[in-house]
Amino acid sequence: MTGTATVVGAGIGGLATAIGLRRAGSTVTVLERRTELERYGAAFGIHPTAQSALDRLGVGDALRDHAVPYRDAHIRTPDGTPIGRIPLERIERTAGRPELLISRPYLIDALLAALETFGDVPLKLGERVTGLDAPAAGADLLVGADGIRSAVRTARFGDRSGPRRIGTAAWIGIADFESPVHGETWGSGRFFGMTPVEPGRTNWYATAAGATTAEELRAAFAGWHDPVPRILDATDPATWIRYEMLHLHPALPTFVSTGAGPASAASSEPGSASPASSDAGHTPVALVGDAAHAMTPNLGQGACTAILDADALSRALAAAPPGPAGVGRALRAYDRERRRSARRTAFASRTLHRFMSTEHTRLRDAVVRLLPG
Ligand SMILES: Cc1cc2nc3c(=O)[nH]c(=O)nc-3n(C[C@H](O)[C@H](O)[C@H](O)COP(=O)(O)OP(=O)(O)OC[C@H]3O[C@@H](n4cnc5c(N)ncnc54)[C@H](O)[C@@H]3O)c2cc1C
Repeated sequence: MTGTATVVGAGIGGLATAIGLRRAGSTVTVLERRTELERYGAAFGIHPTAQSALDRLGVGDALRDHAVPYRDAHIRTPDGTPIGRIPLERIERTAGRPELLISRPYLIDALLAALETFGDVPLKLGERVTGLDAPAAGADLLVGADGIRSAVRTARFGDRSGPRRIGTAAWIGIADFESPVHGETWGSGRFFGMTPVEPGRTNWYATAAGATTAEELRAAFAGWHDPVPRILDATDPATWIRYEMLHLHPALPTFVSTGAGPASAASSEPGSASPASSDAGHTPVALVGDAAHAMTPNLGQGACTAILDADALSRALAAAPPGPAGVGRALRAYDRERRRSARRTAFASRTLHRFMSTEHTRLRDAVVRLLPG
């Protein structure tokens, strides 16, 4: 495709998509509501498939400069007894390279640097999109990469699918302390995870029903095995991030709208979205990342799926002939490649959340002991 694309949102999904579309030959503009990109957040797991996607986007080396491999992680009970392994060895054996961990600010910076090397992709900050007319003006394609509360999704697909709370808050942080062990510890209705992130530091995440303050979170894990309490003690609570876990529900019947009216929503499933927008010309729209399929963080796939979307959309458009028919064909190919896969990942993540959070811990732990590592 050699046309013009507007990408709404400059998170992982939006930046990766802008890079991919520019590499595919498009003229790209990125609109971001924030006045500066927020460089906070803890670590992301980057699966080998997402690493390959970042390689294709030209960001693989920058990723590896700041990422650390994730190996040898166990699932433990609160007294520290290992009952299973997180299947990192299997992932590495199959893919020939390990899962990597990188802190969100480094990944944002790597994507931003790659975008800036083109020298001709405007990143317009302080541009909050509220409807499609303005961002779609003059564009051959509009990409909604604007997160779980996507204004692009609502404007084009309506509000049937939206953010839903799952009733649990997550806490994340990075401790100035290097844990000698990594993995997850599962208790009753609460869990604690710890991963490497960079030398001398530990990335951690936790949920504990009812904990709303740092003191309550520390109290919830006070009796747990070393180094869980030490990790919490080694982090300044002012740097902890607490957020409500949300996911997009119900799943979207399509991630794309080819733009010519309801019949063009590129899905053959019953309940296909009807465009709710009145944007003149019905510019084709593709959703990527959390805008398309926000999921609970239990599988650590939020960033990976956004990167895979960006890569798939860019490849589909690169392979398409110029013109509206080519864009339509590319969007359908993107939807075919990504929608079922992302939906399966979202479902698996939510199922894992229920499994990890159950209060029937004896049954759950017995199942974990039977799982292959
Ligand atoms: C500041 C921040 C910190 C995060 N930290 C973590 C973390 O530590 N660990 C973790 O697992 N996940 C974290 N996440 C979530 C994770 O980044 C995403 O789930 C995943 O990377 C998918 O990214 P995305 O680009 O699809 O969506 P998002 O990361 O949500 O990015 C969407 C972007 O669109 C912008 N936007 C939203 N609405 C509009 C609008 N109307 N007009 C213009 N722009 C708009 C947002 O400001 C944002 O920059 C964080 C997200 C953010 C925004």
